[in-house]
Amino acid sequence: MSVTKQLLELFSVDKQLRGLRSRLDQAERFLGLQKTQHNELEVQVSALKAETKKLRAALHSDEAEATRLETKIASLRDSMNSSKTSKEYNAISTELGTLKDQKSQVEDRVIAQLTKTDETEGKYKSLTSQTSERAKIVERAQADRDAKEAEVKDRLNELTAQRAELAKAIPADAMKIFEELVRVRGDEAMSHVEVVDRRAYEYSCGSCMMTLPVESVASITSGKFTRCVSCHCILYTEDTDIVKSATAKPTPTKPPSKSKSPSKSNPGGKQTAKA
Ligand SMILES: [Zn+2]
Repeated sequence: MSVTKQLLELFSVDKQLRGLRSRLDQAERFLGLQKTQHNELEVQVSALKAETKKLRAALHSDEAEATRLETKIASLRDSMNSSKTSKEYNAISTELGTLKDQKSQVEDRVIAQLTKTDETEGKYKSLTSQTSERAKIVERAQADRDAKEAEVKDRLNELTAQRAELAKAIPADAMKIFEELVRVRGDEAMSHVEVVDRRAYEYSCGSCMMTLPVESVASITSGKFTRCVSCHCILYTEDTDIVKSATAKPTPTKPPSKSKSPSKSNPGGKQTAKA
């Protein structure tokens, strides 16, 4: 079996592997994103919970202070009513005035705190419900990812083993070129030969569409490892007619310069790749 044929088999296995992995990768990326969002919500919820607790404590303390002042004011009113001298009366009255001011300040604070506490608790409740919604999405995404993994696991193992087996038989230098091309070009690492004009012996690269020099076609049909002179992909053909026509036609050993000249049968004025 030619190196090209071996690479083509490997290429096909690789494509299947990429396809399977990409489905799993997609599910994993989605799961990761949902988990991140869920964690961020949890952080916000916990901060709001702490803030609410703090606000509630401050509110209780001010409410207690208001009650204490109220009791004190009531007791001073009693003392004022039973005061015997105007001096005593005036002193109590002054103290009463001060306490009333203090109470009014505390009451204003209580009202502001009630509003703030309500707002914060509202946010906390809303974010808590968002968090539990997000948790459900995470759960579903996890189940989906696990199902996808289970679905492709056996096939992945099978293909990975098949790939290793195929790779063993491929010469290291060809393998290196192939892997670099796959890394850069993915599914375009290898390309078939496209027939432009069979009778005029005109073919192009199926990937970049550049016309192939006669030597390239001859090389491909003889089973040699051949790369597109233009886009550098590895070329192959499974078209038996191309192979037949190449065998029928004497293989040009010297590069005929006319293959480089613009051909009349080159529709669309395709550029001829230089060898
Ligand atoms: Zn090409």
